Amino acid sequence: MSASVEAEVVTVYLALDGGIHHARCSQRLTLHGQRGGLELDFYCLACAETVTIPFCVLSRIPVADGV
Ligand SMILES: [Zn+2]
Repeated sequence: MSASVEAEVVTVYLALDGGIHHARCSQRLTLHGQRGGLELDFYCLACAETVTIPFCVLSRIPVADGV
């Protein structure tokens, strides 16, 4: 049941600058807004792709380690 949540977590990572970055291209995601207070919408300019991250996943986003 948690497979989709885990997939979300590996989609992005938290960089040392405090920004959310796209794991696929390592570019910083732009915050677009939130949906119903449950999810945050980010946009990747490099991939031209919207990435939606539920708040319950935000706290478990892996932090980049000295990269
Ligand atoms: Zn990207």
